[in-house]
Amino acid sequence: MENNKFNGIRTKEVHAGDFQDQFGSVVTPIYQTSTFEFKNADHGARLFAGEEDGFIYTRIGNPTTHSLEEKLAALEFGKYGIGFASGMGAVSTLFAYFLGQGDHIISTDAVYGPSRGILETYFKKFGVAADFIDTSDPFAVEKAIKPNTKLIYIETPTNPTIKLTDIEEVASIAHQYDIPLAVDNTFSSPVLQNPLNLGADIVLHSLTKFINGHADVVGGALILKDEKHHKGLRKTMAYFGANMDPHQAYMVYRGAKTLSLRVLQAQENAMKVADFLENHPKVAWINYPGLKSHPQYDLARRQMKGPGSMLSFGVKGGLEAGKKLMNAVELAKLAVSLGGVETLIQHPASMTHAGMSPEARLAAGITDDLVRFSVGIEEAEDIIADLKQALDKI
Ligand SMILES: *Cc1c(COP(=O)(O)O)cnc(C)c1O
Repeated sequence: MENNKFNGIRTKEVHAGDFQDQFGSVVTPIYQTSTFEFKNADHGARLFAGEEDGFIYTRIGNPTTHSLEEKLAALEFGKYGIGFASGMGAVSTLFAYFLGQGDHIISTDAVYGPSRGILETYFKKFGVAADFIDTSDPFAVEKAIKPNTKLIYIETPTNPTIKLTDIEEVASIAHQYDIPLAVDNTFSSPVLQNPLNLGADIVLHSLTKFINGHADVVGGALILKDEKHHKGLRKTMAYFGANMDPHQAYMVYRGAKTLSLRVLQAQENAMKVADFLENHPKVAWINYPGLKSHPQYDLARRQMKGPGSMLSFGVKGGLEAGKKLMNAVELAKLAVSLGGVETLIQHPASMTHAGMSPEARLAAGITDDLVRFSVGIEEAEDIIADLKQALDKI
C-alpha cells in the first residue's frame, strides 16, 4: 500500500504490504525463486553495495516475504520488519546481533522456555551472562543493570503466568543507561499492544501464534524503527540462514488479514470463560488480566487495548486433578502453541517449561497445578460447556 491515507488497523491488516505487479494481482504472489537476475553488471554491483533497493538472493530477502515485513511494520508502528523461519529464529538472531563475549542480558524470569534455554546453554557457552528476574518490578530491572548489560528482553504478558511488565517504565530505565529494550509481543499481538509506541526499541513476534492464527505454519519477525539495527539484524539473519521462506510468508500474509477479527472474538470468549472459571468451586485460582482480581488489572488497562485470550488457572487437587482435566476435555485440544482459531489446553510444568529446573519454575511462578488455556474463536457457550463437563469429572 503506497499511501498512508487509510490507517485503521483492519485496513492495514488487509492491505498494508500489497504492491502492484505487472498483472494487477490483487493478492501478493508467492515468488518461489531462490535468486534474482541482475539487469547488468552495474545493477548487480549497486544492489550488493546497498545503493539501490532490490532483491539478490532469497536468504537475504524476497518480494513475498518483503510484503509481509511491510504489513507487520505497519501493524506495529515500526519502519522495518524482518521475517524469520520461526519465532526462535528471530530470538536467536536478536541475541546474536546484540550480545558478544563478556556481555550481559536481563530478561523476564518466565520468558518463553526456549528463549531462556538458548541463553542458558549456547550464549552461556559463548561467554554471555544472563539474569532472569521479575521484570514486573521496574526497580528490580534497574538493580540488575551492569556496565556490560547490552540488551533488556522482556515478555509481557508472560507465558504461562500472565504477569505483566510496565513497558513504558522499563523503556525509560533502559534508555537512561543507553540499553536497547526488546519486547516479545506474541501474546498480545499488534491488535492489543504496541510496544514501539510505549518506548520499546524492538518488537518480536512468533508469527506461528495469533498473526498467522491457523496453527498451520511456523514463523517469526522482528519490527523496529532504527535503520542501522535493521541492517545489522538482517545481515545476522542472513548469516544464520534464519530467513523465512516465500511460501511461509504467503501463508502468514493471508492469516494476518483477519487478525483483529480473530483476536477480538477470542478475547470476547476468554472474558466469558474467565468469569466461568473464577466462579467454579473446583478452580483454585485464575490468572487473566481482564478480571478485576488480576493484581495488574490497572496496568493491563493502561498498556493493553484488551486482556487477550490467554489465561492460566489452577485446579483444586494440584497436578493430578489438572491431568484429569486435560484428559477429560473434548472440544479443547491438548497441545502446545496458542493463538490459533481453535481452543488449546496444556500443562507447562510437564510440557513447555519442563526444561527448567523445578526450583527455577517455582521461582518464576510456574506451579505444578498451572493449566494454560488458549481460548479460540468457537462459540463461547461450547468452550464453557466442555470445561464444565471436564471439571465435573474431577
Ligand atoms: C511460540 C513462542 C515463541 C517461539 O516461536 P516459534 O515460532 O515457536 O519459534 C517465542 N515467544 C513466545 C511468547 C511464544 O509463544
